[in-house]
Amino acid sequence: MSLPTLTLEAAQALDRADPFARFREEFHFPVSAKGERALYFTGNSLGLQPKSTRDALLRELEDWARLGVEGHLHARRPWYPYHELVREPLARVVGALPREVVAMNTLTTNLHLLMVSFYLPTRERSCIVIEDSAFPSDSYAVQSQVDFHAPAAGFDPRRGVLRLRPREGEHTLRTDDILDLIDQHASSIALLLLGGVNYLTGQYFDIPAITGCARERGITVGWDLAHAAGNMPLRLHDWGVDFAAWCSYKYLNAGPGAIAGAFVHERHLDRTDLPRFAGWWGNDPATRFDMTPDFAPVASADAWSLSNPPIFSTTPLVESLAIFDRAGGVDALRAKSVQLTRALTETVRAIPGVRVITPDDPAARGCQLSLLLPGDAREAHRRLTAAGVMADFREPDVVRVAPTPLYNSFEEIWHFGEILRRVTAH
Ligand SMILES: *Cc1c(COP(=O)(O)O)cnc(C)c1O
Repeated sequence: MSLPTLTLEAAQALDRADPFARFREEFHFPVSAKGERALYFTGNSLGLQPKSTRDALLRELEDWARLGVEGHLHARRPWYPYHELVREPLARVVGALPREVVAMNTLTTNLHLLMVSFYLPTRERSCIVIEDSAFPSDSYAVQSQVDFHAPAAGFDPRRGVLRLRPREGEHTLRTDDILDLIDQHASSIALLLLGGVNYLTGQYFDIPAITGCARERGITVGWDLAHAAGNMPLRLHDWGVDFAAWCSYKYLNAGPGAIAGAFVHERHLDRTDLPRFAGWWGNDPATRFDMTPDFAPVASADAWSLSNPPIFSTTPLVESLAIFDRAGGVDALRAKSVQLTRALTETVRAIPGVRVITPDDPAARGCQLSLLLPGDAREAHRRLTAAGVMADFREPDVVRVAPTPLYNSFEEIWHFGEILRRVTAH
């Protein structure tokens, strides 16, 4: 099927009609290799800085200078309950009850802390299922959990991780194949831990179907939402997901190394049988300052948090989540996101030799398209960069382009198409 190509006039008309266009001015854009405002399509790697972030951080530095320890209770935003500032906005982003989410640590740390509670292998049931193209940190995390448990549980750690591979000649996974694998191996699978949106291919998985199928077979289900949070409308509570974790520096625009998030389903919050690594911030706040040695977990996701919140890595998240709320949330932004990515698809499909490995169905992808370029992909990527485009290259040959609805425009998609056409014509 041939698609109509996006013209400059059509792109500009779409921008004029875009209800989110004004949000673009709330972000700082980097300067490209050409010395101009970059065509920034790497919000899947590091989201842009909201202009409000700097002043918010300066306020915290001033309060620390002015108040010292008194800032815990008397800063303009008191530090003691600081993580409460993001609880409700984060719950809206992932579709959770407020007490099911907590901002803490960083993503891989949270995956480990959650696996301490939710990966409880036995000799018979020991496997963790992940995508074959899982992000390396996730592969390392699950294999190290397997290695940690294997000796005591008495299973072979080399068979502890089951990797989901696409069919021969395909790049993405079919939902039916995932469900079949779960069904076939159900009795040996302890945990399913997939990326909601795969970082490499941009494929969005059918989280409710996969979660439901696995849970019916007694398998615990966790999702890594690094590329889904702030990108896809999510309903973690309704979908019955056991746990999830995500970082905040990709689509959530909270800056490099920002505080990450975690979700634990309500049905687990009152359980006393789960093993857990504990710290004082997981204790019930009502008794936290009794300073006794006995841990009394609070009945919320906070029970998994260890330490008092890192103010300087949480402030940017407070600011960026406020932008999501002012825009009406991820669900509202998704309509523009689908349009932007469709425009990108039409544009790149019209360029000879360019292939898209991300699924064609908007329901099976987020905003990112992963492209295979003709010829030397690394050289093509270098030329894209020299022409003012910030997109990224992933070994061996994938260029990822992620237009985000908060700060990208249709006109930028048109410009990208013109540049890509030139760059691949060599
Ligand atoms: C970005 C990303 C990470 C990065 O982990 P950090 O602990 O934040 O450094 C991990 N997993 C996935 C799937 C990612 O996309």
